[in-house]
Amino acid sequence: PHDAVETDVVIIGAGPVGLFAVFELGLLDLRCHVIDVLDKPGGQCAELYPEKPIYDIPAWPVITGQDLVNRLLEQIEPFAPTFHHQQLVEGLTRLDDGRWLVETDGGVKLAAPVVFIAAGGGSFTPKRPPLPGIEGFEGTSVFYAVRKRETFAGKDLVIAGGGDSALDWALALRTEAKSVTLVHHRDGFRAQPHSVSALRDAVAAGEIGLHIAKLAGLEGADGRLTDVRLENAAQGSFVVPADALLPFYGLTMKLGPIADFGLNLNENLIPVDTEAYETSRPGIFAIGDINTYPGKLKLILSGFHEAALASQKAFRYARPEERLRFQYTTSSTTLQKRLNVA
Ligand code: FAD
Repeated sequence: PHDAVETDVVIIGAGPVGLFAVFELGLLDLRCHVIDVLDKPGGQCAELYPEKPIYDIPAWPVITGQDLVNRLLEQIEPFAPTFHHQQLVEGLTRLDDGRWLVETDGGVKLAAPVVFIAAGGGSFTPKRPPLPGIEGFEGTSVFYAVRKRETFAGKDLVIAGGGDSALDWALALRTEAKSVTLVHHRDGFRAQPHSVSALRDAVAAGEIGLHIAKLAGLEGADGRLTDVRLENAAQGSFVVPADALLPFYGLTMKLGPIADFGLNLNENLIPVDTEAYETSRPGIFAIGDINTYPGKLKLILSGFHEAALASQKAFRYARPEERLRFQYTTSSTTLQKRLNVA
């Protein structure tokens, strides 16, 4: 009756815990789809501290955030999960047959007997510049990510920010846009040195406009931007023509739509039992930073353990007619076949 893609388990969140869950579920021969609003896997490790060393991952005396993510991706490769990136999960509803329907803002629909919420500190959400009326332009003239480059072909673009995203997109879009103007509050950038020098060259060559200024306002009507108003000490208040504004001011984590899934919540965390890390609704599990129980530690290693136990119970929902046998990866040829090593 619904047009959803069917799978065994939908995992909300591609952080380290969501990724390791693919492994634990895969050992039990359960297939997964993984959804994340970010454009890449790894959650906090990849987004907030890719270069920082972590010292408390078992058997890794030291590993950076990004290396941990890369190792997890390698480990789950045999199970070929389907990733849906840049998709915010907005709906979680029960189907008549008892399964769950998961829906995203980008139109992804998945039906599964089991859902793992591995949403960490919540969905990464772009920081919005404090400009009056900006909501009215979002999605039509104001964009916090580039999903389709064609959207910006032949347009006057104002890009705001001084980090890698702002510089990378200013450099990338200058070829197809009518004009690109970069706006940053100071004449210094927190980006890769090679991007900074490429930007300086492009500004000198007249390919990118640069204003050291603050965003001060938006001009236009009915969601259509005409100009962005800027302000600085030297020039006062002035406008730059713009069909689109792309602010790249970084991301914050917000619980987001999970608050409306009908789950019990305790200070924005999802209470679970400690046998299976299941929520108040059967077949919905919460693992990693998003859950809470007596003694909870928000550590990656706790999330890994939770993923293993949740997977055991998930199997009962996904394969009610089968019995689960406890097996070691070292000695089980069944598991080794699943891992493509036997
Ligand atoms: P996250 O990593 O938060 O990932 C959750 C993902 O879910 C995110 O990508 C988010 O975008 C996505 N998501 C949420 N809601 C939705 C939705 N509705 N739709 C789509 N996607 C959604 N831990 C350690 O063990 N050791 C350390 O040394 C350590 N150092 C740290 C240093 C820093 C600077 C920080 C910030 C954290 C550190 N941590 C450390 C904590 C560790 O990063 C977290 O415990 C871990 O990332 C939790 O993993 P997770 O998979 O549960 O969630």
